[in-house]
Amino acid sequence: MTTITADGYQYSPKSGLVFGLPTKACVSPPARNNKSDKLYDVIVVGAGYTGLIACRELALRGHNVLLIEARDRIGGRTFSAEFDGQHWDIGGTWVHWTMPFVFNEITRYGLVEQLQMRKMVNDSKPYLTLRLEDGRLINLSPEEDTRTRAKALTTFFNVDGAQGHLVMPNPHRHDFNKQAFYQFSRLSVKERMDQVRSELTDVEMAYLAATCINWCGMDLAKASFFDCMRWWSLAGYHPDGITHCAYSYKLECGQTGLARAIFADVCSFPNVAYTFKNPISKISRANGMVKVHTLSHECYSAKQLICTIPWAVLDTISFEPALPASMQTCIANVNMGNSTKIYAEVAGQEWDAWSYLAPPGNPQRSLGFAASVGSTPSGNSRMVLFGLRDELNRELFPDEDPEETMAALKRTNPELDVQRLVWHNWTKDQYAKGVWVMFRTAEAEKRLPILRESVGPIHFANADWAHGWRGYIDGAVEQGIDASGKVRKLLGADTGILRASM
Ligand SMILES: Cc1cc2nc3c(=O)[nH]c(=O)nc-3n(C[C@H](O)[C@H](O)[C@H](O)COP(=O)(O)OP(=O)(O)OC[C@H]3O[C@@H](n4cnc5c(N)ncnc54)[C@H](O)[C@@H]3O)c2cc1C
Repeated sequence: MTTITADGYQYSPKSGLVFGLPTKACVSPPARNNKSDKLYDVIVVGAGYTGLIACRELALRGHNVLLIEARDRIGGRTFSAEFDGQHWDIGGTWVHWTMPFVFNEITRYGLVEQLQMRKMVNDSKPYLTLRLEDGRLINLSPEEDTRTRAKALTTFFNVDGAQGHLVMPNPHRHDFNKQAFYQFSRLSVKERMDQVRSELTDVEMAYLAATCINWCGMDLAKASFFDCMRWWSLAGYHPDGITHCAYSYKLECGQTGLARAIFADVCSFPNVAYTFKNPISKISRANGMVKVHTLSHECYSAKQLICTIPWAVLDTISFEPALPASMQTCIANVNMGNSTKIYAEVAGQEWDAWSYLAPPGNPQRSLGFAASVGSTPSGNSRMVLFGLRDELNRELFPDEDPEETMAALKRTNPELDVQRLVWHNWTKDQYAKGVWVMFRTAEAEKRLPILRESVGPIHFANADWAHGWRGYIDGAVEQGIDASGKVRKLLGADTGILRASM
């Protein structure tokens, strides 16, 4: 059933700012069988992909599981708003068969045919508007776009004469090649750009800087080259790789369609209890047991806990006894990209094949990226925009000033007639505090091993520190599988497969 979640906004000059978006992601009634006097085998905190997968894997093997979620909905940093039968993915969107964990889930729930390529109605005249570092706007034809991207990215990533194959042969293990890991973890994106500057034209440099800022969502002098190299390697060491793997295929049913399928599976087990709209505030442990305290003063107990709270939010939870000093240092040093994803409905379909890219260094809040992702039933173009921080580090937040966002889009092309904006502010969202993890220089080596360590019966799991597609939906599924595997070993024998219908 479609209901309104508390997350997200819409704006049009006619309707003004409207809070909340229609989605099938909400869970109603918000609780099932949650009991504070019961000892659960496992409590899973968070109903994003990591939590949903962990829950299913454990329930399937007969363990008693309680799922606790702060929001009114499933999906965490993904959910689909529904307008006229179309699903607009407000957070995580793009998935691909080269993402092994999520493609397995798509297959398992019979959704392979839902995987649709980004549609461009007006394929005849696609072109890219690129903002140069001096502020000038130029238009590139599809051939110029492909040529510029190929030159910029193959020059940037060719650190070993083999397009990165030698230094990062296995991007699913961060330290597979230890020497390269330390070298590139400590090299900033800006430093690497300076190394190749003499080999590239101004247009290619602008393209490269714009690509990197859109991937990293942070000051390129601080962003680590290692994480960009990781995306490049995961996507096949090819200039079209990331566009193809991480920006071409999405589910027609929206990410909520997949999350719903997993949640329906979870709910088919009688040994699963849940409680939504129930933020936790404290995790305590004593006598080999773990207790989870909610803001509403409930307390739940379990033998093991999987905490899928995002890295940037862990500082809002108190732990008793305190976590090891190394983990506390990790929690205090979050590495997180920040950018705003916004949908714009633009009059007419002639924009269907247009896109825009901009490097950092703008005097005013502006857009780093814009591209059509198809048309609306009313015959308009639907675009995805990403905001770009300005020289004063100010972000473009439409909830603060939607007209400013509309003006920022019009500055990229004065002919655009922007009719409506739809978005969620993930940076200000108290249960996300950012979009996806990208590491600053020399941080991955310090933080990754610690974040992946369990503390007694507490197991931390999130896409933010996944092994492969870290910061992606695939990484979340990987983490759910990984954490449930650890917990199953600790609980001893699986007790069998239970189904409500059996
Ligand atoms: C704008 C945007 C665009 C993206 N685009 C893509 C993309 O195209 N493709 C892709 O693969 N990935 C994309 N991602 C990344 C992807 O969405 C995330 O990496 C992934 O969804 C994270 O899943 P998770 O379960 O690990 O964490 P989350 O989804 O963050 O789940 C954690 C859960 O914990 C809950 N929680 C937090 N605090 C508490 C508390 N105190 N008590 C109880 N519960 C709590 C949260 O509400 C949340 O439901 C995007 C993300 C954003 C924000």
